Amino acid sequence: MLLTISTTHRPATDLGFLLHKHPGRVQSFDLSFGRAVVFYPEATEERCTAALALDVDPVGLVRGSSRSGGTLDQYVNDRPYVATSFLSVAIAQVFGTALSGICKSHEPLAASAIPLKATIPAVHCRAGADILRELFEPLGYTVQVTAHPLDVAIFPGESSHTYSLELEGTVRLSDLLSHLYVLIPVLDNDKHYWVGDDEVAKLLRHGEGWLTQHPKREYITSRYLKFQKNLIDAAMEKLREDDPPSEVSDDVADPVEEKIERQLSLHEQRHGTVISVLKSHNARSVVDLGCGEGRLIRELIRDPSFTRIAGTDVSHRVLQIAADRLRLDRMPSIQRDRIQLFRGSLMYRDERIKGFDAAAVVEVIEHLDEPRLAAFERVVFEFARPKVVVITTPNCEYNVRWETLPAGTMRHRDHRFEWTRAQFRDWAEGVASRFGYTVKYLPIGPDDPEVGSPAQMGVFTIA
Ligand code: SAH
Repeated sequence: MLLTISTTHRPATDLGFLLHKHPGRVQSFDLSFGRAVVFYPEATEERCTAALALDVDPVGLVRGSSRSGGTLDQYVNDRPYVATSFLSVAIAQVFGTALSGICKSHEPLAASAIPLKATIPAVHCRAGADILRELFEPLGYTVQVTAHPLDVAIFPGESSHTYSLELEGTVRLSDLLSHLYVLIPVLDNDKHYWVGDDEVAKLLRHGEGWLTQHPKREYITSRYLKFQKNLIDAAMEKLREDDPPSEVSDDVADPVEEKIERQLSLHEQRHGTVISVLKSHNARSVVDLGCGEGRLIRELIRDPSFTRIAGTDVSHRVLQIAADRLRLDRMPSIQRDRIQLFRGSLMYRDERIKGFDAAAVVEVIEHLDEPRLAAFERVVFEFARPKVVVITTPNCEYNVRWETLPAGTMRHRDHRFEWTRAQFRDWAEGVASRFGYTVKYLPIGPDDPEVGSPAQMGVFTIA
């Protein structure tokens, strides 16, 4: 059983620090079901690959099966070859520190999304190849699945249900390990150990930050917990507590906000103002952070002065809607090449949002928990650091002008806060001074003499 993890992030050998395993050494670990060996088939500045090979003792498994509560009863079984829950145990024991995202010597790197590729030569998955894609694609990976047919002469027409799996994406290493830790056992029916209450805690711990938003979270939960109803109920209840999940909002369906927006055609005004600000700063490349369904991107595409346009959002679902609405698949390649859409969270540093002239953050900050704004600020202003950042957010003083909005309520059920003009300015001044930007303000929509405009904009430029 083999797992390899490669990176091209330079220097690539830093992978050794992240995994806490030296690229120059072969290390071996005794585990209850066999032996794990970690080694690096390649380790250069440009590219580094770590391999985790598991030597599972199939006979020992059968002999110990009554003790461990396992179900194996045949000496000849596939356990030594296919990646199963044993791999999760090995990840936790051999790469435990990396799994928890801890790396004292390389903290910023451990917190960054970097290009990573994981390869597993054999997984056993009765549900077929599609489910492999459905599990990993929403997490931002490009997934390659290759089927391994059975010997057709001996088993005509039968599938081996065995696949090679390759995942490629820009993610944090700890996220990749968590995804594998949870999802590999989901593929396999023979989880080797007893599933008890602590498995719920493990699932929730390793699923933190992604499982609540995963379109197949119920499938994952019930298979990870091996269909034990009381455990599944307990886990699902916890997962639903996060609905709407802390980093995802549902910007498609909030009737109150939609109605208000329509009355003023606020979307158009907002995007129109953003675009004119971007043009006045001669921005040619723009990244739309929290792009949602791609409304601003659609406007940017229409204007040929924008030569490179990217959109990113934490929600896989809205990105799919964006890709559909923009008809990316039917676009001529000359247009298509200007545009990139990718999933990512504004809570983590991400190489992919670097190198743009400008960033737009339109009606996004109010969806972030206030204590987490500090992380967002560093990601955008310190790490990505575009020359211009345009941020818009509601001005809650204006809410009294809307009869349809009951006093004291916010415009959208996922808004974590709505600021007055003074609160926004206070925050924006702080950000500008901490990160070396200057900020100017613009109203969006009719500017009421008493309560200001319905939305407010800060335009940050490098001082
Ligand atoms: N900018 C878009 C969408 C605004 S709705 C527009 O103007 O139409 C807010 C968007 O922020 C949602 O699509 C939500 O998924 C996204 N979002 C929320 N938290 C995020 C995070 N941590 N990282 C990236 N995007 C996030």
